[in-house]
Amino acid sequence: MKPKTALQKKVAILSATLRPITATQKRWAFSQCFKHTAYRGKNGSMICSECAHEWTAGDNRNNICRCPECGAKLTVSHSLKRKSTQKIHFAVVTTRDNFQVIRVVHVECRSRKGEKAEYIVDEVLQRWFDAEGNEVNIARKKCFMPRYCDAWNFDSDMEIRRRTSNYDNIPIYATYPKCRVLPIIRRNGFNGFHDTDPYDLLKGLMSDNKVETLVKTRQYGLLAYYLYRSQYRRDSWQLIKICLRHGYKVKDVATWYDHINTLERLGMDVHNPLYLCPKSLRSVHNRLVELLKRREEKVRIENERNAEIRRQIRQRKDDEAKETYPQRMSRYLDLVFSDGLIEITVLQTAEDFYNEGEAMHHCVYTNAYYAKDNSLVMSAHIGEKRIETVEIDLQHMSISQAHGSHNQNSEYHDRIVSLIQRNLPAIARRTSQKSKNADVISA
Ligand SMILES: [Zn+2]
Repeated sequence: MKPKTALQKKVAILSATLRPITATQKRWAFSQCFKHTAYRGKNGSMICSECAHEWTAGDNRNNICRCPECGAKLTVSHSLKRKSTQKIHFAVVTTRDNFQVIRVVHVECRSRKGEKAEYIVDEVLQRWFDAEGNEVNIARKKCFMPRYCDAWNFDSDMEIRRRTSNYDNIPIYATYPKCRVLPIIRRNGFNGFHDTDPYDLLKGLMSDNKVETLVKTRQYGLLAYYLYRSQYRRDSWQLIKICLRHGYKVKDVATWYDHINTLERLGMDVHNPLYLCPKSLRSVHNRLVELLKRREEKVRIENERNAEIRRQIRQRKDDEAKETYPQRMSRYLDLVFSDGLIEITVLQTAEDFYNEGEAMHHCVYTNAYYAKDNSLVMSAHIGEKRIETVEIDLQHMSISQAHGSHNQNSEYHDRIVSLIQRNLPAIARRTSQKSKNADVISA
C-alpha cells in the first residue's frame, strides 16, 4: 500500500536509502546458515556440494571434512540422495535516523550432486521501530499458507504492509554479527544477540527493564526463556531475582525449571536460595528426581494397599449380606400371589438374584439388591417363564419398580402391578408380625 501517514512517508523515504544486502553479508549467510555436503561415492570419491570439486578421500571415515578447493566445512553424506533444498531467513540489523531497522532476508539453497550450489537471495521484510513505540513494516506479500513461514510471493514489491502475525512468526536462523543499534539500546546493555530474535531482543531492550536486567547480568539462557515465555511461570521473575541477588547464573534453564517443579512436588521451599541455586544443578536435580520417584512409589504402594483393604471389606460385607439374606427375609419367603395366570414369588437366595439378573438382563444382582434394607424383591412368572422383577419398598409399603427383560415393561406390567397392589396388606402384615415377634422376644 502507498505510504499515507507522515510516519509511513518518512520510513518509505528512509528505506529507499538502504543499500542492497552486500556480497559479504550474503557470503556470511551461505557459509553460516546452511549445511554443506560432501557426497561420498563408492570408491572413496568425494564431491563438494558448494563448488562441485571432486577428490579422493581414501579410507578416511570422518563425518566432517573440508573441501580442498573452496575450504567449505562439509558433512559427509553416504546416502544416495543427490539433491537438496534448504531455506532460511537471516537478519541484518541497522539504523536510519532515529529508527532501529531489522532487515529479514530469505535465502534458498539448491544443491545437486556434481553441480555448484545455487543460492537465491531475497530481502522480504523490514521492521522499522523507534523508542516512541512507532512501528512500520515494509514487506513482500505472503502467500496464504499460514503454516509455511517461507511462503513469500517474491514477485510482489517491498512496500508498506499492515503488521500481522504472519510477519511476526518468521524464524530467524541467525543475525549478521556486524550491526548498528540505536544509542538507547546500547546504553541499555546491548552486547550481541545470544541466539534470540533480533526484533524481540532490541524491542525488549528499548522498553522492558527485565530484558535489560537479564542482558546486563549476562543471564542469556533466561533471556531466551523470558522473551519467548517457554515454560515461563507466573512467579518466574521472583525466582530469577533471588538468583540475581545471590549471583547465581542459570546456564541450563530447562533443567533449572524442572528442578523448581521437582522442589515443589517434594514440598520444598522454592524461594530458599539454598535449594533454588544449587552449585551443581544437574547432580542435585538427579538426586531429587530419584527421591521424588521413591516417594511417589511409596505413596502408590500405600494407595494400592488401602484400595485392596477397602475391596476386601466390601467383599466381606457382600458375602455376609448374601449369606444372611434367607434369614433376614425369612418372614416373606413363602409369600405367593397369583391371579390364576401370573404367579409372583419372593427371591429365596442370593443365587436366585443372580439367576434373575442373568435371565432378565438387568442389575438386580450386580447392584446387590439382596443387601438393601427395607427392600423386598419378587419375581413374576407364568409357569417357568420369568416376566418381570418387582421391588417393594417395605418402609412405605409401595412398589419401587417393576420391570421386565432389559428393564422394559412387559405386556403383563399393569396386571402385575395391580396384583401386587392388592396384596400389599398381606406383605404389611408380615412386616408388623416381625416387629411383634421382636417385641415378644425383647419382652
Ligand atoms: Zn568446495
